[in-house]
Amino acid sequence: MAWRSSGATNEALVENLARNGLIKQERVKKAMLGVDRAHYAPYAPYEDSPQTIGHRATISAPHMHAAACESLLPYLRPGARVLDIGSGSGYLTHVLAELVKPGGKVVGVEHIQPLVEMGTGNTRKSAEGRDLMDNGGIRYVKADGRLGWPQEAPYDAIHVGAAAAGFHQALIDQLKAPGRLFMPVEEDHMQHIYVIDKKEDGTVTKTKDMGVRYVPLTDAPID
Ligand code: SAH
Repeated sequence: MAWRSSGATNEALVENLARNGLIKQERVKKAMLGVDRAHYAPYAPYEDSPQTIGHRATISAPHMHAAACESLLPYLRPGARVLDIGSGSGYLTHVLAELVKPGGKVVGVEHIQPLVEMGTGNTRKSAEGRDLMDNGGIRYVKADGRLGWPQEAPYDAIHVGAAAAGFHQALIDQLKAPGRLFMPVEEDHMQHIYVIDKKEDGTVTKTKDMGVRYVPLTDAPID
């Protein structure tokens, strides 16, 4: 029923997601209202569906971006440090950066160079995005996200935008205590979101959530 949330404008899309209960928290709504999806999705940006962005990547559906923000929200405080693996279009990287303003930082990790450039270019289309890029609120890097980005660890929140073949220990190691990791994991040809919490005492719990369909988290393609 995701299509029910589609709208004619960014505002209508976000309002419909909220009306349908897919956005529950005001801070998530405000952040998504503040980032125009048309800067990131090449066509039909206000439809609640994934769209291809080339290079075998897709920008996830708005309701999945909303679900990720809703889940990670307790850890998305001003000044927080966040890792967005498989940053693709850059849309979620920008929304996450809005949620940790002021003083926060989101590192977007992408393993395809043209997508690193696409995320950067898309983010620079708005004044808010340019400001975040110029003031260190967002940084895009080319790397294998399965290894995380240890250079700026630990992170309050980690989002993975591609389905992993397992629970990459490097990502769990790079979480703060407390911290939260939101990732799709592939098991038995099915994918589910897992929410992995590291408590203050370092204990790690894994909670299986909804079934999903994401692009796989893979080796970099040989171009
Ligand atoms: N959050 C993005 C999702 C893009 S699709 C968006 O909504 O726009 C998933 C992305 O993960 C693709 O861009 C793909 O290139 C990237 N990816 C896949 N495996 C990766 C890896 N090992 N390291 C980094 N990025 C990876």
